[in-house]
Amino acid sequence: MDDVEAAVIAAAEAHLRACQLGDLLPRPDDCLACYLHRALRYSLCNGRLTLTHEWQGHQRMRRRRTGGLTAWLKSRGGCCDCEVLLNVYPDREPDLTPGRGRCAHPAWR
Ligand SMILES: [Zn+2]
Ligand SMILES: [Zn+2]
Repeated sequence: MDDVEAAVIAAAEAHLRACQLGDLLPRPDDCLACYLHRALRYSLCNGRLTLTHEWQGHQRMRRRRTGGLTAWLKSRGGCCDCEVLLNVYPDREPDLTPGRGRCAHPAWR
């Protein structure tokens, strides 16, 4: 194998890794549940709604309504990020289809 060939293969492998990682990273356009499923692979729940509020910030930037989100989640037993998944969205299977831009669920309710 010559150097050029090796460089092409290395570039292709790096690209593939980046794509696979991209498929695992939290996607702000996903619904809250799918976002949390992905985000909680990278950070542990800290007993607060930190990741939920991160998602909410993304929605705000996209001018999507999330008014009353925190109160709504807490009234359903979601007082921290992992509880949101356990108590608020127990039946919502994460849509982890690779290569898709966002999941097919409604944003949060
Ligand atoms: Zn979803
Ligand atoms: Zn938690």
